Order: sequence, then C-alpha cells, then structure tokens
Amino acid sequence: MGNELDKLIDEVAEMIVNSKNVVVFTGAGLSTESSLSDFKGQKGGWTRASMMRMIDLVQPDPAHYAIAELEKLGKLDCVITQNVDGLHQKAGVPEEKVIELHGSLKWMKCLGCGKRYPTEEVANRIEQGVKEPVCDDCGGTLKSSTISFGEPMPVNEIKEAERRSRGCDLMIVVGSSLAVFPAAWMPVYAKEAGAKLVIINISDTPIDRHADIRISESAGKVMSKVLERVKSKLAT
Ligand code: ZN
Repeated sequence: MGNELDKLIDEVAEMIVNSKNVVVFTGAGLSTESSLSDFKGQKGGWTRASMMRMIDLVQPDPAHYAIAELEKLGKLDCVITQNVDGLHQKAGVPEEKVIELHGSLKWMKCLGCGKRYPTEEVANRIEQGVKEPVCDDCGGTLKSSTISFGEPMPVNEIKEAERRSRGCDLMIVVGSSLAVFPAAWMPVYAKEAGAKLVIINISDTPIDRHADIRISESAGKVMSKVLERVKSKLAT
C-alpha cells in the first residue's frame, strides 16, 4: 500500500466496509472495456434483433465481477446503470438489483401498450419468417426498449434510482463521465442526503468537486483492487 492510488483504493474499501447501503452507478466506461462500444450509433430497424446474439458474445469485465462480488458480500443495495448491455446481471447481480436508466437490449417494447417482450423471442419470430413482429395484445409496433440520445428516460426507473440514491450512505460512480442528465443527478441526490461519494472515471465529471474520493483510472483495474481490500478487511 505504498503509492497514492493504493492509498485511495484502501480508503474506498474502508468506506464500503463501514457502509450499510452502497449504491453503484455505472456508465459507458464499463462497456468500453468489454468492447461493446461497437454497437453505439446503430439505429433502430430490425438489425437490432441480431444484437442479442452479438450481446451473447460480450462478456463482463473485472469491474462487473467486482461489483457482483460486493453484492454477494451483502454490501450492495443496487446498481444504477446507463448501460444497456445487461452485463451486471451476466456477472451475477440479481435482476431486481439493477436499475437500467437507458433500457436494455434484452427487451423490446410495444409502442402501443408498452408490453415488454424478450428480444430473443422477437428475434426468433423474425427467424421464422415474420417480417414485422407486432404486439400480441394490441398489434402495436415492437421497438427496442433502449433509449436513444435525446429520448426521455423511463419515468419509473428514474424515480426508483432517485429514491435509492437518496437512501444510500455511499455512492460509487464507476466509469461514467456523468454527462447525461437526469441520470447524472443521482450522485448529487446521494450527496445531498448525506452519503459519501466516490467517483472512479478516467476523464473529468461535472460533479468532481462533490466527490469525497476521486480516482482517475480505468474501472476494471481499480474495482478489482477495491474488492480485494474489502475482502481482506472483512476477513480480519
Ligand atoms: Zn401492445
């Protein structure tokens, strides 16, 4: 534990050990490390139906696994994520503990009534020759549940994320430059409610000045070390 970074990592681990409700907020900095960035900029259309097959090829990175481990240690209230890749769940975080602010590639949604369909199911229909799959209930058009730039974020998820943010005693932002609002307000809500705030992101964020600890490093490298320290602290 000689250098500056190791000292900060140890402090983050200490905060986790001493907290009851940890909320982790994640963004594109995690996906890029898993090289999902290739998907970005793809627009609508039925090419999305093949995306879930591509998604099967993408694997969680060390940061996803470290966060999932925190959950197993009983240290995680929930993950609030801007990512649509489902990698937190794939790494082992239970579905009900992941709040997806930008939707999920795993789900498609009826534009008419809002009913959700697994992307896999819709993809299967297309494979069986259905040209434009529609909603069983209302005949409405099915669309990816992910939010494109400029679209409003899902109201329920935003509300729940805000509630959890205000209820936590430690928020750790991992791999988000906090550039998209209202998602980026979550750490501010946490801070307002008296929580400690840790920001782990390579580039600057607009709320760096609110952070109790600020680490400019890649998510995978830092989170694995944080987890190691947490485990050894809990063991002693
Ligand atoms: Zn419908």
